[in-house]
Amino acid sequence: MIQTIRGFRDILPEDIVIWQAIEKTASKLFEDFGFKEIRIPIMEKTELFARSIGETTDIVEKEMYTFPDRKGDKLTLRPEATASVVRAYIQHNMGASDSVQKLYTIGPMFRRERPQKGRYRQFYQINAEVFGIESPYIDAQLILILNELFKRLGLSELKAHINSLGCKECRPTFQKELLGFLEGKKEHLCENCLRRMDKNPLRTLDCKVPECREALKDAPSTLNHLCDKCKDHFEIVKNVLTEQNVEFTVDKTLVRGLDYYSRTTFEILTTALGAQSAVAGGGRYDALIKELGGPETYGIGFAIGFDRLAEIVAQMINGEDVEVKDGSSTTSEFNSESDFMNLLSPKVPDIFIIPLGEKAIRLAYMWTSALNIAGIRTETDYSGRSLKSLMKRADKLNAANVLIAGDKEIEDNALVLRNMKTKEQFFITTDNPVEQIETLLNRV
Ligand code: AMP
Repeated sequence: MIQTIRGFRDILPEDIVIWQAIEKTASKLFEDFGFKEIRIPIMEKTELFARSIGETTDIVEKEMYTFPDRKGDKLTLRPEATASVVRAYIQHNMGASDSVQKLYTIGPMFRRERPQKGRYRQFYQINAEVFGIESPYIDAQLILILNELFKRLGLSELKAHINSLGCKECRPTFQKELLGFLEGKKEHLCENCLRRMDKNPLRTLDCKVPECREALKDAPSTLNHLCDKCKDHFEIVKNVLTEQNVEFTVDKTLVRGLDYYSRTTFEILTTALGAQSAVAGGGRYDALIKELGGPETYGIGFAIGFDRLAEIVAQMINGEDVEVKDGSSTTSEFNSESDFMNLLSPKVPDIFIIPLGEKAIRLAYMWTSALNIAGIRTETDYSGRSLKSLMKRADKLNAANVLIAGDKEIEDNALVLRNMKTKEQFFITTDNPVEQIETLLNRV
């Protein structure tokens, strides 16, 4: 039997309910904040990612699915969305219509990482990107949006870690000091860090190797080297978040794995899926648009790991204890009346039509189609099985009502509609069952 390839998976109908509910909740929130959806291709020229994400990052060095097409062009399955959204922004001169563009996109990404719980080779992200705003209010607003989304999904324990990486003015002095520090720790650093020292020393700061972590405990922090403008920017982000009651932790090790970030970076971390991992991350990338050939434009965005988010939400719904931060755990505090929970309510048939006899099957098919078109969720059965066995099937499907259409009922022009909960019965004539059913179900 042919199976999915390693790190790729199916998301089955029973799980998709959560995915759809998250997607609806996120889209509504984005649109309320003035974001517009954009859909970008799954494949791009390799150069786009190499230039934006950074040649020395794990993604570009080891994880991209890259192959030549028939003409020899190097193509890559997108490992993230920002580069493509920036490419689209430049290609369509989007800044011309309004200098501020707020965009979101939801879709699959591809990275050849080692698969484990919460880590796949095809995974999904919910992305938001804002172009054309330098003000720190937009940095705060993106973190506020993440916070609000998690709250709406019942995950109010998830908190943002934030940091500032400085800008092209203040970063070089910091890098020099960091390099000096790293030189003194060389014998304790892993191979990766030694390599990164040359190309992008900042990235040694988020190395996960315990020995490196220990060696880098007292490494200089970007926060002590910010220029006045970056310092003010970060202060406003923090002040505004505090005023809006968005909890956060300043985390000087948060440098993110991609090269293009500057100033504010943030991540939402959790241990709900085993080892600590990020559910979302983002930051400012003020130099990226120009770097990719566009006009000098401010940029900032985030990506939420959809697979991880769906897994955490599923754990919460199932009432499992979910450890959301190091050391603390919480059980579900779901408000069963919330809009999100309403989106999760199972979609059961409004009506299951039970036809008994050949003639009845044809009519049942006709009525079912008409009811489906009228927006009433209706199922029927073409097998010709007995009343008893079809009642069982209706029960299994959790149908709210059954409509019994035997030859006798059709002959008498009196179909029986039974409410499965209250056991109330109504008679329906065969001439215009859709209208009668709409009235009975209060759908008109
Ligand atoms: P990044 O673009 O690496 O900052 O990733 C943003 C978010 O996407 C992360 O916080 C994760 O939640 C999610 N993510 C990244 N890589 C994977 C993966 N291989 N499998 C599942 N989720 C991922």
